[in-house]
Amino acid sequence: MTAKGMHFLITGGSGFIGSHLIDALLGDGAFVTVLDNLSTGRLANLAHVVADPRLRFVQGSVLDELVVDELVHRCDVVVHLAAAVGVKLIIEEPLKSLTTNIRGSEIVIESAHRYRKKILVASTSEIYGKNSTSPLREDAERILGTPSVVRWAYSTAKAVDEILTNAYHRERGLPTIIVRLFNTVGPRQSPAYGMVLPRLVRQAVAGLPLTVYGDGTQTRCFTHVADVVDALMRLLDHDGAVGQTFNVGSPREVSILELAKLVIEYTGSTSAVEMIPYHDAYEPGFEDMVRRVPDTARLRALTGWEPRLTLEDVLIQTIAEARAELAALRR
Ligand code: UDP
Repeated sequence: MTAKGMHFLITGGSGFIGSHLIDALLGDGAFVTVLDNLSTGRLANLAHVVADPRLRFVQGSVLDELVVDELVHRCDVVVHLAAAVGVKLIIEEPLKSLTTNIRGSEIVIESAHRYRKKILVASTSEIYGKNSTSPLREDAERILGTPSVVRWAYSTAKAVDEILTNAYHRERGLPTIIVRLFNTVGPRQSPAYGMVLPRLVRQAVAGLPLTVYGDGTQTRCFTHVADVVDALMRLLDHDGAVGQTFNVGSPREVSILELAKLVIEYTGSTSAVEMIPYHDAYEPGFEDMVRRVPDTARLRALTGWEPRLTLEDVLIQTIAEARAELAALRR
């Protein structure tokens, strides 16, 4: 991509996906400013690039209008990744999550409009709610439960981000791109916010039972973060992406029970699988999605993108990372 010499503002750049995107952008010769409040992001994710003179780190919140205004003003392109993420975190801190995801996004998108900067907004497959059609096209219906269930409130907050982004594009001509990410996984993903793959891997490596929620037949399509970053780079570089929404995800569907078995196989762990009812894992009234498979024809047709890494690649890398962490703890 032709990122060389361009200046990107990455909100949430110390997070899992943001830090990988920054590696790609710096590798292409871009200048990068990170805005991150280090709530779920970690400075350690950027430790290997922190000395790069083309990287600037600003610790701050997307809720801080003055900081956002100044940083957007100085950049060429905004990538808005900052958000409250992870089902566990969202259930534990619903109000904070909603404020970050609605007001924070509004501030960033408004600033992009003020200075007429291209903006890529990260959305989520949670948008589709309980729609278990396979595969899900971008125009698939959203099927949601009551907004008093936190998960659907989260889905709605992200939908508000998309609606606002689209409104700025259609009514004000703002160059926007929306991506809906499907279960991104890979190195640097924290197990702390509920994401299943890093959790199961840490459990297996530590010899603890692998916690499978519900009956384990629910499926997901896990996508290597390197493939997600590849998709973002292609979209950022393509004029045809402007004004559009894209699913980004692998077509390989795996049940959570199958995933647990794969984790046990790849770690050689003697851990057992422990089935935990949803109401114990989360809270009474919790609702899961039984299935979530992306249709990525739109992304492929425009950019030629295809996932190149497999779930097995993710497992090997995540297991190596978990073992290294454990070894460091024991030293
Ligand atoms: N899950 C699980 N054990 C865990 C964490 C999650 O079985 O320790 C399940 C979760 O209920 C869901 C799936 O794994 O069915 C994916 O969960 P995650 O939070 O990673 O992503 P999302 O639900 O947002 O797709």
